[in-house]
Amino acid sequence: MGEESRRRLRFGMVGGGRGSLIGDSHRIAARLDDRYELVAGALDLDAERGRAFGVELGVEAARCYPDYRTMIAAEAARPDGVEVVAVVTPNATHVEIAGAFVEAGVDVICEKPLATDLADARRLAALVERHGVVCAVMYGYSGYPMVRQARALVEEGALGTVNIVMTEFAHGHMAVAGERDNPAMAWRVDPAVSGPSYAMADTGTHALHLAKYITGQRLSAVAAELRHVVAGRPLEDDAHVLLRFDGGAGGSLWASAVAAGNRHGLRIRVYGDRAGLEWHQEAPERLTFLPRDAPVQIFEQGGYGIAPLAARPARVFMGHPEGYFEAFANVYRDVAEAVAARRAGTSLDPLAATYPGVADGIAGVAMIDAALRSAAAGGAWTALD
Ligand code: NAD
Repeated sequence: MGEESRRRLRFGMVGGGRGSLIGDSHRIAARLDDRYELVAGALDLDAERGRAFGVELGVEAARCYPDYRTMIAAEAARPDGVEVVAVVTPNATHVEIAGAFVEAGVDVICEKPLATDLADARRLAALVERHGVVCAVMYGYSGYPMVRQARALVEEGALGTVNIVMTEFAHGHMAVAGERDNPAMAWRVDPAVSGPSYAMADTGTHALHLAKYITGQRLSAVAAELRHVVAGRPLEDDAHVLLRFDGGAGGSLWASAVAAGNRHGLRIRVYGDRAGLEWHQEAPERLTFLPRDAPVQIFEQGGYGIAPLAARPARVFMGHPEGYFEAFANVYRDVAEAVAARRAGTSLDPLAATYPGVADGIAGVAMIDAALRSAAAGGAWTALD
């Protein structure tokens, strides 16, 4: 890799202010491989809080902006303006903020869900296409090496024809009405900020992305039951969705915030006609491979027999735990390579090219859209638009 493409990218953030749930994960991921330097931000809705936090993080005071519009204008006027920006704000703001940076020619790493409305998601995708920038969507769980190993096994045919996908992201953090005294939780069940879905948008989109990433199949239709378990919530907090994929697989997706006792609850099982596989994010360094007619095999992160796609992101030798931050960082590292390649006009290493992009963002929003239509029709099978 050339020196130009190895230098640190000038990185900005919108949202992810002090005490936010996911801002630190982005900053840690951006630093882990030394491919980004945080140089600007509009970190908080409260401009003064955002400025103070930015300065604490080492950003020049003059580049801690009161809002994203001021940031775009000021950064565009500098020869050393931001090259890539992370949009780490609540759902309903993603398209507007990401779109404005895309129009300014800045590469974007956007939080999920990409949009709260399918037409908006497509509008953003069209902008990305027109401006030719990178737009990644932060499905960070696809950065786990063993998720990548699962994809490699499917790709090399080890499972045979993939017939069944069971995917779930069901936690219990909102099993009671905790949103009453927690603003970061309150917006998640407020349709004006979260969009028309809570469980599907917050966790279901991650579960779908894992399925898509591992199997390569795209969702074509759903039959959904969207439940409101905690009384008074305007958005669903528990979702059970039957799935049909374009490659012939069927299965189900469970997204929940009310499965009390479940810790994080992200897991996926995929079955073909030759073998199956299971991965659980709470034991992320192991992938269980289940051949139809041979003993069970466990693949280990950084261990033997790992495909190049999964070996590449492992930073340490097997037996040394790597986890959540490293998975996030693996996506950040791939995006750094994509941005550097775009800016240098060079081609991207195919092993770096599996990071989630705008099409993956649209896939999540399209699933939510179809699930809402299905639920409104009493759970009828509903094709994705
Ligand atoms: P949060 O409420 O904890 O924090 C949001 C932050 O954004 C706050 O600092 C707030 O001041 C700031 N903010 C809000 N509007 C802003 C604006 N217009 N300009 C600048 N700053 C603004 O929310 P969170 O839990 O960190 O979630 C943020 C986003 O990240 C959501 O879309 C959520 O779905 C997503 N998320 C993704 C993951 C993941 O694993 N990829 C995990 C958690 C959250």
